Amino acid sequence: MISVDFSLAISLYMLILLSAILVIWLVGKKQKDKDLTLDDKFIWFCSVCTYTYINTKEDLISLCPRCGSYNKKSVDISRS
Ligand SMILES: [Zn+2]
Repeated sequence: MISVDFSLAISLYMLILLSAILVIWLVGKKQKDKDLTLDDKFIWFCSVCTYTYINTKEDLISLCPRCGSYNKKSVDISRS
């Protein structure tokens, strides 16, 4: 009888512990996703090598980190 109660207690403890970890993980993931949300104006699309990258410093022209070519900000790409 005691062993059954003990394993039940362990099971409950594990269940509570796992639920707590799951909640903490979900909250942390949600906050991380929120932090990663970027404005469309920071997302650049290279017209030469079709590489998509993020540049928060430039507004009109930015340098592609992959092929090194200059890209002008296109409004049509951010709309679609
Ligand atoms: Zn490129």
